[in-house]
Amino acid sequence: MAAGGAADIDAAVIAADTALHGEWGKATAAERGRVLARMGKLVEAQAEDLALLEARDVGKPLKQARADALALARYLEFYAGAADKLHGETLPYLAGYTVYTLREPHGVTGHIIPWNYPMQIIGRSVVGALAAGNAAVVKPAEEASLTALAFGRIAAEAGLPDGALNIVTGSGEDAGAALAGHPGVHHVSFTGSTAVGALVQAAAGRNAVPVTLELGGKSPQIVFADADLERALPFLVNAGIQNAGQTCSASSRLLVEQRIYDSLLDNLSARYRALKVGAALDDLDVGPLISAAQKSRVEAYIERGRKDGLQVAAQGAIASNAPGGGHFLSPTLFAGAAPDHLLAQDEIFGPVQVVIPFRSEEEAVQIANATQYGLVAGVWTGDGARAMRLTRAVRAGQVFVNNYGAGGGVELPFGGVGRSGHGREKGFEALYGFTRLKTVAAYHG
Ligand code: NDP
Repeated sequence: MAAGGAADIDAAVIAADTALHGEWGKATAAERGRVLARMGKLVEAQAEDLALLEARDVGKPLKQARADALALARYLEFYAGAADKLHGETLPYLAGYTVYTLREPHGVTGHIIPWNYPMQIIGRSVVGALAAGNAAVVKPAEEASLTALAFGRIAAEAGLPDGALNIVTGSGEDAGAALAGHPGVHHVSFTGSTAVGALVQAAAGRNAVPVTLELGGKSPQIVFADADLERALPFLVNAGIQNAGQTCSASSRLLVEQRIYDSLLDNLSARYRALKVGAALDDLDVGPLISAAQKSRVEAYIERGRKDGLQVAAQGAIASNAPGGGHFLSPTLFAGAAPDHLLAQDEIFGPVQVVIPFRSEEEAVQIANATQYGLVAGVWTGDGARAMRLTRAVRAGQVFVNNYGAGGGVELPFGGVGRSGHGREKGFEALYGFTRLKTVAAYHG
């Protein structure tokens, strides 16, 4: 893979800017939609190849990679349809005036992509920007750049004009930092760690350009005794182990009403003991972690939990045929963590969940909100009024009632509060973020 640096980012920004002054900039909204629709069809047609590529590159079980490929196709389908439905408004004003707003693209948008869901995050971050008429420069993660490059080839095949989409592989410190701070970039979207997000925001801030930050979380699922526990159980566990827990919206804290704590912990433990970890193409429940570094990071948390006397309630098993030297790690369910323990506070980004009891609705909300993050929350209850109260009380960008994730819908605005970031991706909300509003006030007497 080429190690792109500042000079390559420079060339990509110039190419993007040139595209905005050429064929891409002149394309109508409907034409932009049409080319995205063609890209969507190609992604759909090549979904199996893309899924294999992603599974091998990221290490995720094939069925998850297949879902990611279809999600990318769905982003293209949604934003293809949305491109020519984005418009300003006419505003009532003083006599003799006609006032209206125009939604204009920012210009060149920068996109820094992490390694956990490359296809999905390209769909989420880049496709909306193109639909709104921007030209994009993308920096995928070194750990997983292959599907980003495949996406570039598909764009060319679909007839996206040259320069509208540019992909520069390379390290975060070189290519990523150069993109975040480039004076020719007019909007930056970043998904990754809070620490790097802050660097990106500072770099973009020097050029006074807007930034969307999606920084992960410590998302809770709150389970009341009156919930449909049979329905809840698979969601509770899957939300913690999907993609080996390397998911920004992973639910790594399970808050359980005291009355059902023991029995639910038993059921959760049974599910954990049945989890199988293995190679991506063996398509088990959990794949390897992305890298040796990520594995030791997660292991250090597990070690810390044991050392601090937390109870390891259950662990999954690594399959006997898992290739030696892979970054496999047994999913681990912890009980007995105080809500302010490190394992209940830090984003671990591995297949580790902590179960925490609560006694009342107030206490559940207090624990749920007592981290620096606020991305997603789940509420499980059979009491509709309580569900409504909690959806308002929890600090999160998305709240799910009696489900978690809702299938990941591309229509549903997504983003965090606090250290989980700011700005919204997905749905029409993302298109508003990828445009700037111009107000026109015309006096005609
Ligand atoms: P990073 O935040 O370092 O990586 C995310 C992206 O930012 C990658 O493309 C990376 O490039 C790039 N990057 C790194 N440094 C810079 C920089 N100085 N300027 C601009 N871009 C940069 O995450 P890590 O891979 O180090 O993962 C560490 C932790 O971050 C995880 O354990 C998890 O907690 C969190 N994370 C959260 C994600 C989410 O979905 N919200 C996704 C990934 C990580 P490259 O990797 O090529 O160097």
